[in-house]
Amino acid sequence: SIPLGFFGGIGAASKSGILIKGSNYLEALNDVKYVVFDKTGTLTKGAFKVTDIHTSHDGLTKDQLLELAAYAEFHSTHPIAESIRIAFGKAMDESRIEGYNEISGHGVHVKVDGKEILAGNTKLMNKESITYEQPAQAGTTVHISVNGQYAGYITIADEVKEDAAEAIHTLKQMGKKTVMLTGDSKAVGEAVGRTLGLDEVHAELLPQNKVEEIEKLESKKSPKEKIVFVGDGINDTPVLARADVGMAMGGLGSDAAIEAADVVIMTDEPSKIASAIHIAQRTRSIVW
Ligand code: ADP
Ligand code: MG
Repeated sequence: SIPLGFFGGIGAASKSGILIKGSNYLEALNDVKYVVFDKTGTLTKGAFKVTDIHTSHDGLTKDQLLELAAYAEFHSTHPIAESIRIAFGKAMDESRIEGYNEISGHGVHVKVDGKEILAGNTKLMNKESITYEQPAQAGTTVHISVNGQYAGYITIADEVKEDAAEAIHTLKQMGKKTVMLTGDSKAVGEAVGRTLGLDEVHAELLPQNKVEEIEKLESKKSPKEKIVFVGDGINDTPVLARADVGMAMGGLGSDAAIEAADVVIMTDEPSKIASAIHIAQRTRSIVW
């Protein structure tokens, strides 16, 4: 049977916008050693703004490049895709798109107006042997090719969430190790890591690499110590499932993430992780 005190803990958590799907997860939160974060949508707002559009010589105009990118990203739910469609800002005609294919951790491959379009990161360009230019500005870069020819890039910038630095600071004071795993570039990952004071940053990871990083952390701790993974679920449901406690951002997160998670943070605030641990500690002291 489940001790009654657990219901009190789960109830208290739900009042703070933290949905805990079982008393075993509440109990596990007492023994957290690592708090591992996804970046986009978890520590950052996932609301990117286009800050630069660069076309390669004798190619398209900036407006044409943005239009192609918006069409290429038409079917994607990734926050990057959304920001490009918002920057384009015009009504779109779906009949111009054929054969949409999203390549997890890379970008998209699709036909627009009968042309083969790739839109994604340097990994995608390297995979397709397309030579790309170095972006002039810091930020997440989406490179675009048309029929195998490099056409230019779009730079977009995200912002860290208001409470992210405080959340990391509190967790570190509680003795937790804070780690960020991201599919984004080293430059972007390290900049966010410095801003937030994270203990470790691992960048340019594919979804399966994120699972491998969790496994590496597992080998560095005692069996009693637990790993929490916090994500928004775009590409990271395997990691949510693999961690001892998978936490999803409920507002921004995908339905798949909310389904796969053990704990859902309804307010999307990273500071709620420490709150959940505090509730777990209080619950344990009442129950035992
Ligand atoms: P994160 O770990 O930051 O949540 P993801 O695993 O979702 O990132 O994506 C990793 C990287 O893959 C992104 O930073 C981006 O470079 C690229 N990418 C993923 N999806 C898309 C897309 N729809 N369009 C362009 N690039 C994408
Ligand atoms: Mg993600």
